[in-house]
Amino acid sequence: MFGKIYYTVVVFLFGLVVGSFDNVAIYRIPEKKSLWAPRSFCPACGVTIAWYDNIPILSFFILGRRCRHCGAPISWRYPLVEALSGILFAAVFARVGFQWTAMLLPYLFMVTVLIIVSAIDLKLQIIPNKVMYPAIPAALAAMGAVSLARGDHRVIVDSLVGAAAVSVPWGLAALIYPRGFGMGDAKLAAFTGAILGWRAEVVGFFIGVALGALVGIALMLAGKKGRKSRIPFGPFLAAGALIALFWGQAIWDFYVGLM
Ligand SMILES: [Zn+2]
Repeated sequence: MFGKIYYTVVVFLFGLVVGSFDNVAIYRIPEKKSLWAPRSFCPACGVTIAWYDNIPILSFFILGRRCRHCGAPISWRYPLVEALSGILFAAVFARVGFQWTAMLLPYLFMVTVLIIVSAIDLKLQIIPNKVMYPAIPAALAAMGAVSLARGDHRVIVDSLVGAAAVSVPWGLAALIYPRGFGMGDAKLAAFTGAILGWRAEVVGFFIGVALGALVGIALMLAGKKGRKSRIPFGPFLAAGALIALFWGQAIWDFYVGLM
């Protein structure tokens, strides 16, 4: 019992550090800057951030939400992304534990990609190819490795079917009606499907559509968005995929049981 709590805390801290990297990726990928160099700097004054001012979550509050050098405000996005990454890493570990170590890394990889892509989509309404083009084959390769480790070819078959299940119809819809359907969303669905397998992917997709519709209607009623304005769909697909990661099989079994 103590052991499990101890490791969950370690995975949480690891998630915070990865969240710090997510913030770098969210800022630099759309700007077409290198992820690895230079070290983190203030986007307002350009001064390099010292390690003691770059501690996940804590530094944001210790610095009073401002750059130490120029006083420019630091976005709430930074601590939120770090906290979300830490919490989701810990939750994934609590869910799959060590006996499913083979799925731990693919799931943590999925969480990381979903956080980066959702934040960029919220900010700029794009799902960058620079993330999706490497992420999709990496997801398939990871599931191929899981398949080999378990000696069960059904894992990779499910992964391939999952990668196509939502993304192919969505991609075709995007070709026919590009104003209504985003090709970036289709790529994101290919990625989540590769890791979740087709059942959880389908469950997650419908949850994402339902969440997107609810929020869209709420924003329209609040007068914040017109009928024509576009709401980024990536974060909803991501939320659906995460719900499916934790409860997809249970939701699937429930519905199949009803029929
Ligand atoms: Zn500054």
